[in-house]
Amino acid sequence: MNIVDHIRETRDVTRDELESILTTNDKESIEYLRRAARAEADAIYGNKIFMRGLVELSSYCKNDCLYCGLRRSNKEAVRYRLTEEEIYECCETGHSLGFRTFVLQGGEDAWFNDERMCRIVGTIRERYPDCAITLSLGERSRESYQALYDAGANRYLLRHETADSEHYARLHPAELSWQHRMDCLQALKEIGYQVGCGFMVGSPYQTIDTLYRDLQFIRSFQPQMVGIGPFVATHNTPFEGFPNGKVEATLRLLALIRLLHPHVLLPATTALGTLHPKGRELGIQFGANVIMPNLSPRAHRKDYAIYDNKICTGEEAAECRACTEQRIRKIGFESTVDRGDYKE
Ligand code: SAH
Repeated sequence: MNIVDHIRETRDVTRDELESILTTNDKESIEYLRRAARAEADAIYGNKIFMRGLVELSSYCKNDCLYCGLRRSNKEAVRYRLTEEEIYECCETGHSLGFRTFVLQGGEDAWFNDERMCRIVGTIRERYPDCAITLSLGERSRESYQALYDAGANRYLLRHETADSEHYARLHPAELSWQHRMDCLQALKEIGYQVGCGFMVGSPYQTIDTLYRDLQFIRSFQPQMVGIGPFVATHNTPFEGFPNGKVEATLRLLALIRLLHPHVLLPATTALGTLHPKGRELGIQFGANVIMPNLSPRAHRKDYAIYDNKICTGEEAAECRACTEQRIRKIGFESTVDRGDYKE
C-alpha cells in the first residue's frame, strides 16, 4: 500500500513515512497527498473556507521568544495598544462585513488584565450573541482562562510551538517552560474551549524527529484547530540569520495534519502568504479550510510585526475581506463568514 493510503487508513504516520513525505522529489506522490488531504476536508466541510476576522490588540509583550519580532528585547519594535473603543469599532466593522468569528490576538501585555479583558469579551458577547469569540493572548493562569470563558469566549489559540521540550528550550528564554505551555493547553481544553495548538515549520533546530513529535502530539491532544506556518527570519531577533521555513514543507505538513485529524479547522496562514504570493491558496489546495482576514485598524497594522514582510498591512478591513474572498473564489472554493464551529 502506498504511504498516503496507509496514513489515511490508520490516521497515523511513522517517523520514516514522515521523512519520506518531507524529502521526496516525486511530484506525483505529492499530488496524490494533496488530493487525499483535500478530499478529507471536502467530505467534512465541503468546499467551504471559513473566514475569521482578526483583531491585533497589542504589540506590547513581556516575553522574549527568540523568533518573534515583538519580543521585549527588541527596542526597535513599535509598540501600540488598541483602546477598548477601538476594539469594539473593529468588531462592529467586522460584524457589518458579515464576520461571525472575531479573533482577538496580542502579545502578552499586562494591560489586558482579567478585569479589562473580561469586560471586553463580555461586551462583545453581549453585542453579538451569535458570534464566536476566539482569544490568542498567550499564557495566562487557569483562573484567567476560566474567567474569560465565563465572560463569553469560546475558542483559544495557543500554539505549542514544538512538542519536544529540548527544542522548546532553544526557541525560548529560560523563564518560559514547555511544561507550562502544555499545562495551559490542557487547562483550556478542560475548561471547555475549542482549542488550537500549532507550530512553525522550519524553526531553528527543528528536525524530522521534533516534527514527528508534533504530529503525535496533535494525534493525542485532538485539538479543534491547528495553526502552522513557515518560520520567517526576523530582523532584530536572535534568529535573524537563520533561513526561512519552506513553503513546500508547510504544504506537505498541512496535508498530513488533515489526514491524521480530518475534522480539524486548519488555517492557511498569513506567514504562508508572506513567503509565497499564492501561499494561502496553495494551503487551501493542500487541505486548509480557514483564513483570517485582518480587521485591525490600518494605522497600527504594520506594527504588529511578529515577523518580517508580513502581508496585508495596507488594506482596510473591507478590502481585506473582498481580496480574500476573491482569491478563494478564483481557485474554486467558497468563502463563508459563518461561525464555522468544529464538527465532531
Ligand atoms: N502572544 C500570543 C500570540 C502570538 S503570535 C501567543 O503567544 O500565543 C502567534 C504565533 O506567531 C506564535 O505562536 C508563533 O508560532 C508565530 N510566530 C512568531 N514569530 C514568528 C516568526 N518569526 N515567523 C513565523 N511565525 C512566527
